[in-house]
Amino acid sequence: MKKRVLVTGGAGFLGSHLCARLLNQECEVLCVDNFFTGMRRNIEPLLGEPAFEVMRHDVTFPLYVEVDEIYNLACPASPIHYQRDPIQTTKTSVLGAINMLGLAKRLRVRILQASTSEVYGDPDVHPQTENYCGMVNMIGPRACYDEGKRCTETLFYDYRRQHRLDVRVARIFNTYGPNMHPQDGRVVSNFIVQALKGDPITIFGSGTQTRSFCYVDDLIDGLTRLMNLPHDVEGPINVGNPAEMSMRELGELIISLTGSHSRLEFRPLPQDDPRQRRPDISRARQLLHWTPKVSLEEGLKKTISYFDALLANSREAEKLVWRFTQ
Ligand code: NAD
Ligand code: UDP
Ligand code: UDP
Repeated sequence: MKKRVLVTGGAGFLGSHLCARLLNQECEVLCVDNFFTGMRRNIEPLLGEPAFEVMRHDVTFPLYVEVDEIYNLACPASPIHYQRDPIQTTKTSVLGAINMLGLAKRLRVRILQASTSEVYGDPDVHPQTENYCGMVNMIGPRACYDEGKRCTETLFYDYRRQHRLDVRVARIFNTYGPNMHPQDGRVVSNFIVQALKGDPITIFGSGTQTRSFCYVDDLIDGLTRLMNLPHDVEGPINVGNPAEMSMRELGELIISLTGSHSRLEFRPLPQDDPRQRRPDISRARQLLHWTPKVSLEEGLKKTISYFDALLANSREAEKLVWRFTQ
């Protein structure tokens, strides 16, 4: 019998790739999403698959289904989206986790949480190892996301201790690739869309802050390896690509890869924006035998092709609308 897997947030950027990967691995997939930031287009290619099912549902409400495994990804991930309704963001993380843990407890199934490098806040330890407890401003504009995710981790390990639940927590570092929303607001999609349109590349602050970017295929490989480890896993695992760069360097690289004439435009740095971020992935290497394979340049080229096609289609669509209204 096929394994039946629940993916919450399955219509989002990472969720849609995960659903596709699980279908390829001969699983049945139940995708649950409230479409807050997810897109129907992301899962459209999967809709014809008999093993794929979609349910519109908000994880802050209880969910009674029968599955063999749970990946909990539901939560807006881009700062502009998670700050749009910060109370809902905390509810999604915390109530969503309680409901999904309750579901896992009733069914006695394994559950994986998509946690984040944001639990480290604006880190003063570099690179970040899993035992670093982080530096988070608990009342700032990013707190709804950061503290929501931190509380979720607390819940996961309390369900493990109190109810002997088999939990896995992946601390995901900045990931990019096809299926990001063109208005997602995160840096890679913003810069690519701006470069392709010839608009200014919006660098926040001086652009010296750093991030380390992982291509989505590598990330999904890391998540499924963590879920499929046959033995118990103690503590969270960083999953990301340690190749670190500044936002200014990223802007310049995207301009050169797209052959764009866009110029850099400097904007104010958002409050509490982390100055540096790079994962120490020794634990993932050792436990999962996993290491990212796709170089930044290779991953960016694939992502640029995706957005190029998307923008060309929407330009076609705009032209059609324009013609019909004349
Ligand atoms: P995304 O915004 O593209 O996807 C999130 C999905 O969750 C969307 O489809 C959205 O509609 C859905 N959702 C939001 N609130 C919901 C609710 N209350 N009920 C049901 N569905 C809900 O973001 P993503 O990049 O795909 O991120 C997926 C997960 O991975 C998130 O939990 C995020 O925190 C985590 N993560 C992502 C990254 C990254 O770089 N992509 C980094 C760290 C952590
Ligand atoms: N829950 C759910 N689906 C289930 C089982 C539980 O959504 O199949 C929710 C339910 O709303 C509950 C929460 O998960 O409030 C936590 O469940 P748990 O059994 O841990 O706690 P309790 O029922 O005591 O609140
Ligand atoms: N950023 C930027 N221009 C943009 C969007 C983001 O310079 O148009 C910066 C942002 O200030 C941050 C970095 O890029 O320093 C990564 O931002 P993102 O929102 O992608 O992720 P996060 O801050 O959550 O790591």
